[in-house]
Amino acid sequence: AGQASEQATDAIEVSANNVSLEQIANEVGRRRTFGIISHPDAGKTTLTEKLLLFSGAIQLAGTVKGRKSGRHATSDWMEIEKQRGISVASSVMQFEYRDHVVNLLDTPGHQDFSEDTYRVLTAVDSALMVIDAAKGVETQTIKLLNVCRMRNTPIITLMNKMDRETRDPLELLDELETVLKIQCAPVTWPIGMGKSFRGVYHLLRDEILLFAPGSEKADQTFEVIKGIDNPRLDEMFPREIEQLRMEVELVHGASHPFDKEAFLAGVQTPVFFGSAINNFGIREILNALIDWAQPPGARDATIRTVAPTEKPFSGFVFKIQANMDPAHRDRIAFLRVCSGHFERGMKIKHLRLNREIKVSNVVTFMASSREQVEEAFAGDIIGLPNHGNMQIGDSFSEGEPLQFTGIPYFAPDFFRAVRIRNPLKIKQLHKGLQQLGEEGAIQVFKPISNSDLVLGGVGVLQFEVVASRLMNEYGVDAVFEGTSISSARWITCADKKMLADFERSSAGNYLAHDAAGNLAYLASSGVNLRLAQERWPLVTFHETREHA
Ligand code: GDP
Repeated sequence: AGQASEQATDAIEVSANNVSLEQIANEVGRRRTFGIISHPDAGKTTLTEKLLLFSGAIQLAGTVKGRKSGRHATSDWMEIEKQRGISVASSVMQFEYRDHVVNLLDTPGHQDFSEDTYRVLTAVDSALMVIDAAKGVETQTIKLLNVCRMRNTPIITLMNKMDRETRDPLELLDELETVLKIQCAPVTWPIGMGKSFRGVYHLLRDEILLFAPGSEKADQTFEVIKGIDNPRLDEMFPREIEQLRMEVELVHGASHPFDKEAFLAGVQTPVFFGSAINNFGIREILNALIDWAQPPGARDATIRTVAPTEKPFSGFVFKIQANMDPAHRDRIAFLRVCSGHFERGMKIKHLRLNREIKVSNVVTFMASSREQVEEAFAGDIIGLPNHGNMQIGDSFSEGEPLQFTGIPYFAPDFFRAVRIRNPLKIKQLHKGLQQLGEEGAIQVFKPISNSDLVLGGVGVLQFEVVASRLMNEYGVDAVFEGTSISSARWITCADKKMLADFERSSAGNYLAHDAAGNLAYLASSGVNLRLAQERWPLVTFHETREHA
């Protein structure tokens, strides 16, 4: 350890660079890091394309990622596998808009990958919630919003697809408030819908933005008419204008006025109506993100809170993605910068391994192409290629032991026992599962009472992906079988003696270690779990766990 701390001091000298605290503060202030949360098909991909188009990051929409053919069908998981190379590049997109640097983190929409999605949300400072206005709040929307709530992430809402027949806008707001339990502050209000969609009224600016079916042009502008009482409106939409005036009066009276504090506290969401495919309402969303959403804030680490404007570099890994080429077991660790200034070639310390690394090969994610990053500040994401020594939750710094907190693992809902056809491959199996476990592709449990291996996932598709990767990357032909396990809980107990008693009791038969060495209880049924909890009130059964 003595040697390690010497190295750490060394690292600070090596990376001492010319960036001043003032420059760092300035760079942090102009950054916005966000993710899009939505139920599949609400329009996340379309919106992503339009945001990039708008910022000038890409010329033509439609290049964000390969269209997800049949992505809901389990049998098509191979497609997902093939697209992994593409999705690495589109997992993080950085673009500039109005002299700000915007980082958009992709949240995989497939429900079987929701664990990954959840962790991505720990790395954002705000979220954009896209709702299909014909459908309203859907199951994935609820789950994702609850994850945002764990950190009080501010949320901007887009009611999408207003060019279609939608549900009544007031009813949509009401649903958001009652189902998602978040206050709604409409910022724009729709005029008509579907074939008679005329545009939106901006409640804060008293302006009407006229809808025109979309184009792929980045500089597209929509005509603006000032003032809801403007007589021009009576000429233009004699039929709709009275209704609009009535509704607006109602909305002003009945809904919450926009309150930035409440938004930043995650209590209130500003709501916009638009149509992603028509490029309509996108500028308003981007402006809200720049004007209202917060720049990167302070992050909690075990020993203290880290301010983004501190000079030394620090960050944590929130996602690991395998590279496409199965011959090379390279992965990219996605690291969110939490403080300081990162420069290519600098030395940083991998705290869990107490090891210093020189980062000469690093990827950043400018729009659709991968580029060599020269520098990064808090809120930015950098990709660190590695051969499997980096794990989700790992923290990096210039030497200080800053283990960041709040990066969750979720208790799996599905379980499989693993068997292999060729017993000589047992070592490869263990190695493969260890690595896939660290990558977060699957959770691996080793029961204490026997030599089986148990896999846990939040969706069944994960098992198929893991079977294929074991075969392709580790040469292991594994068979997954059903188990009698119904749920898992991580175990902690402040009283060491009691924990030992617990392990020796009949409950001990249900205990296992996960890939990171944590103790877990694998319950055979809901009743079994409840009884164990009742019998051992001082033992805590956790539904989530953090880093090792
Ligand atoms: P994702 O699953 O959330 O990424 O959704 P996509 O962006 O792939 O969109 C799902 C479908 O909705 C696609 O067929 C889109 O063309 C369509 N779509 C997206 N936005 C709009 C919109 O504003 N209006 C209409 N009519 N269709 C839209």
